[in-house]
Amino acid sequence: VTDHDRSANHGLLSLADHQLATAAHAPGVTVRRLDAAGFHDEVLSSGARGPGVAEQTSTIEALLHGAYEGDVTFAELARHGDLGLGTVQHLDGEMLLVDGEFLQVRADGTVHPIPPETRTPFAVLCRFRPDAAHTLAGPMGWPALQALLDDHGEPHLVQALRIDAHLARVELRSVPSQTPPYPPLIEVVAHQRSWQATDVRGTLVGFRFPGQLEGLEVAGLHVHFVSDDRTVGGHVTDLELISGTLWVQQLDELHVEVPDGVDVEPSGARDLGATIRSVEGGRAGRG
Ligand SMILES: [Zn+2]
Repeated sequence: VTDHDRSANHGLLSLADHQLATAAHAPGVTVRRLDAAGFHDEVLSSGARGPGVAEQTSTIEALLHGAYEGDVTFAELARHGDLGLGTVQHLDGEMLLVDGEFLQVRADGTVHPIPPETRTPFAVLCRFRPDAAHTLAGPMGWPALQALLDDHGEPHLVQALRIDAHLARVELRSVPSQTPPYPPLIEVVAHQRSWQATDVRGTLVGFRFPGQLEGLEVAGLHVHFVSDDRTVGGHVTDLELISGTLWVQQLDELHVEVPDGVDVEPSGARDLGATIRSVEGGRAGRG
């Protein structure tokens, strides 16, 4: 992060503190704040803790304000989990983590492996240790999928999920790489690219976060997709499932690495939920 970025984006840390303080009182989910060093050190002692922890770098609110410079490399992220989603340095597309493999879906819909030295301005991941597999029989749209997760997840906890699916249709989007001075996410998303894949097999990975964590995270369901043949992917805004298998894991801790220079101008009156909804878009952004 350059000095220019620091001076132009002063103030987010206090905002993030406020968000963390609020989220800390979310029933069921313990939120812990870490700096980059603490994030690095934590994984060394994670063996004894077992599953149940989501870890993330930066916050959705920081991303909304244009904090597209990350401080954590994918090599570091790889030490923390094997399933997740997020974005890539400079907001260069949608990211997903499947079976320990980091994939980038660029704004043209193409899928690429991510070099370990690349950094991320936002990612959330976990060591995925799901409960039993659930067979899904379609046709199943987005609302039915949400209802299913209601059945399989505690609403006050975080759910990590994976679905290996045959989809009749999936609506996808991604965002183009940005250059400083960074526009807010809502301006970027106004120029997002979206496309549709039909009769496609692939993997959906995602999280469902309780409403109390809005700002730190996208409240509700947030899912990314990649096809089995790695030819298409993106952030999912709608889908129609034919068949599939669902795995869900409950997470009761969220550890947030707040980057040193990732901050934004203080916002006064704001409707964070409405902004996130408009940015995350479509039916898929909704809880
Ligand atoms: Zn997304």
